[in-house]
Amino acid sequence: MSNGGDESAAKKAAAEGLVDSEGPTIFDKIISKEIPANVIYEDDKCLAFRDINPQAPVHFLVIPKVRDGLTRLSRAHEGHKEILGHLLYTAQKVAKDEGLGEGFRVAINDGPGGCQSVYHLHLHVIGGRQLTWPPG
Ligand code: 5GP
Repeated sequence: MSNGGDESAAKKAAAEGLVDSEGPTIFDKIISKEIPANVIYEDDKCLAFRDINPQAPVHFLVIPKVRDGLTRLSRAHEGHKEILGHLLYTAQKVAKDEGLGEGFRVAINDGPGGCQSVYHLHLHVIGGRQLTWPPG
């Protein structure tokens, strides 16, 4: 029996960066400005832009411009320490610029168990309302 449907669904998911692969993701198109995004911070190493489906009044993502194997946090190796520090530093800096002086949350979803949907490392920064714990 043919499983062509499953195969084409898998190919489509891979092409959209929805599974862990080195292939391009929607975030590459945001980095290259091929598709629009509400960019709130940019430097030579990273980009911060508003999430298209915000979970709070302020919800932005911080991503490395070069993925360098960091499809997900658990792919990190020693050589990624500098960019990981830069992303975290940038997250708090942009949070302050966004007026989140009362506090905010930084989250990284890793893999299927962590509810990751785009396989290009990204930090979620969420705030602007009283957050609760634990998250779902
Ligand atoms: P994940 O589930 O992988 O941790 O988070 C991916 C996030 O990327 C989601 O919160 C989703 O709303 C956001 N996202 C997906 N596609 C786009 C897009 O095209 N533009 C923007 N701005 N955010 C996106």
